[in-house]
Amino acid sequence: MQQINVTKTYLPPLEEYDKYLKKIWDNGQVTNQGPLVTELEEKLKTFLGVKHLFLVNNGTIALQIAIKALDLKGEIITTPFSYVATTSSIVWENCIPVFADIENNTLSINPDEVRKKITDKTSAILATHVYGNPCNVDALQIIAKENNLKIIYDAAHGFGVNHKGQSLLKFGDISTLSFHATKLFHTIEGGAIVTNNDELAHKISYMRNFGHNGPEAFHGVGINGKISEFNAAMGLCVLPKVAELIKARKNISELYNELLKNTSLIKPEIADNTKYNYSYYPVVFPSEEKLLIVRDKLNNMNIFPRRYFYPSLNMLNYVGKQSVPVSEDISRRVLCLPLYFDLSIQETEKISAIISQML
Ligand SMILES: *Cc1c(COP(=O)(O)O)cnc(C)c1O
Repeated sequence: MQQINVTKTYLPPLEEYDKYLKKIWDNGQVTNQGPLVTELEEKLKTFLGVKHLFLVNNGTIALQIAIKALDLKGEIITTPFSYVATTSSIVWENCIPVFADIENNTLSINPDEVRKKITDKTSAILATHVYGNPCNVDALQIIAKENNLKIIYDAAHGFGVNHKGQSLLKFGDISTLSFHATKLFHTIEGGAIVTNNDELAHKISYMRNFGHNGPEAFHGVGINGKISEFNAAMGLCVLPKVAELIKARKNISELYNELLKNTSLIKPEIADNTKYNYSYYPVVFPSEEKLLIVRDKLNNMNIFPRRYFYPSLNMLNYVGKQSVPVSEDISRRVLCLPLYFDLSIQETEKISAIISQML
């Protein structure tokens, strides 16, 4: 059997990409905010229903620019249950990550734990919408307001999610997205910074382009966050397919739900009032030992789920020792099962059968 991975990049029909390549060849511009980047930005703003959106070259630089744009200093309270970039961006920007533990059922940062970690050095909360599942945005907003903190949401998994009747990307001061090839919507490599705030938007628009204000002047410190026309072309091909891709993932997720319902696996609870994007299919095992047995068995059958997220980020050797028992426990027991647009019914049944047998 062909190898099955946790995800598979959606590639559009080659002719569709080729149409955009011809445009690039015709006008000769390959990067520096070309027409395809501008077109994709406009289309994404409409699709996502957000005010300001800036494409950048990856989701990590999006986080770093967000931290810089908000001029954050000192301690940033963050989740230990996320991809490493969430924490590394904080450290890279010379701030200190302070971990607040997660909720056992949603796997999102726990607002009560956030409150406990606030000190006079805290400047912001950086939380992840884990697997596209919205954080408790209302509780975090109240905490931020009471304590004069900024909020950044790492929405790398949150593309196309709606929450409480609007885009999930509208919550907080800034949301960041990743358009890496493994994500639901992608530009091969890429990402975006989203904000409702005009002043921040102004700052970000300079920051992502070295701070350039015309060829010979600079608005302030900046970095090279630019994305190429080739990446934008991929995004323009993938965007019209997103609804279809989400539909396919929904169907597969529902099939997994049905086939795995009599096992001891637990699924994270999705926040109420959410139109979900089915970006991942995480399951929590009763023990790490069971997880490893199932993982090895699947690997032997050429099936490669992923321990995502593992390890808990408080285990990184460049952060101070901090105790977050729920995150450590869940990280050891969570596995993301293969989920992508053309995973077949037969493949889903086979994966589910192997797992069911062992649990
Ligand atoms: C993928 C991801 C990132 C990093 O995005 P890149 O585009 O790969 O730099 C950051 N945070 C989370 C939660 C992610 O899943």
